[in-house]
Amino acid sequence: MTKTNPPTVSLRPGGLPILAIVGGANGKLEGIPSWTVGTTKKEAVESCAATHCNFRHVDDGGEAGRYKVVQGPNLGLYLDKKDTRIRREATDKSPELRETMDGHLVESVPLCFALYGTEMFAIASKNRAAQKDLDRYSLETVLGKRSIKHKYVRGATVGNPSTGLTRGQLAKIDQMVRSEGLGHILYDHAWRLNPWVLEYACASANDWPGVVDALDAGAKVVTVTVPKFGEYNRVKGAPVIKCPENLGKGTCNTCGLCDVKKRNDHTPQIVVVFEQHDSASHKRKKGNARRAVAGILGKFKAAKALEEGSIVEELQALLPEASKPLTRRIHRYISWFSG
Ligand code: SF4
Repeated sequence: MTKTNPPTVSLRPGGLPILAIVGGANGKLEGIPSWTVGTTKKEAVESCAATHCNFRHVDDGGEAGRYKVVQGPNLGLYLDKKDTRIRREATDKSPELRETMDGHLVESVPLCFALYGTEMFAIASKNRAAQKDLDRYSLETVLGKRSIKHKYVRGATVGNPSTGLTRGQLAKIDQMVRSEGLGHILYDHAWRLNPWVLEYACASANDWPGVVDALDAGAKVVTVTVPKFGEYNRVKGAPVIKCPENLGKGTCNTCGLCDVKKRNDHTPQIVVVFEQHDSASHKRKKGNARRAVAGILGKFKAAKALEEGSIVEELQALLPEASKPLTRRIHRYISWFSG
């Protein structure tokens, strides 16, 4: 007889369709309280599906893993990789550039790391635990357990607020958080559909044209994920700020830039930019290349050569003695670090 898991049921810890925790493993959050939209995986997924966000897997109706045309007559069209070609190979300094077969630039669409990552797996186990102890994942309980060091609550770590909660529910959550003297950081992908959410959340834009639309819609903070930092310093006068956590220079608890209620009519709109860090990202590929040359040259020699800018010379020096397969690997990294 095959064993089946019991169905997860939608529970309402504290009367709200959210599950809250404190002290999660996400380093970016430094253990601050956080909550997910929905008390079951189904509810969380449905809140994202309702946004039509293109960072969802193609099997779920998204476009992740495909390429979006960002130039020319087919602007906005999504293509499979086989219908694109390399314009410029990736190097240590810049990511690969691809284009359509008639030479117009395309950009890869990343996979949502919240919806398809560990946070989503955790919802099922929290749901099972919540069935035995309804209060355990309520926002009230979690706020009561927080540390004195916590200055913020991170909302909607999984799921989308304005499509999974009513305006009244989100207002209640925000009021509960702020009445504790805490800031509240959350992001919404359906701000076009539900502009009311901009009172509570950053507008998540899918691309730079989306950033312009979100600024026009009055978003105080707009966020966008890009293949590589540095494309723009300002958009429509709004400063473009690299997320300090993404740069390894802080956490949400020390930063708080994405708390929209910290901004008012006298402070400028801002754009917060994140660099892609999914498995296809340039950041991840840079890390892989560094680990590979450490394996070839030895950890300390590779680190020194990278610091001194002599990595290509060090790799070239190995070629006369290298086996055929190693020669192929060395050439790959010579070309990576020469670019
Ligand atoms: S800009 Fe600051 S608040 Fe926003 S995600 Fe980065 S670290 Fe967190």
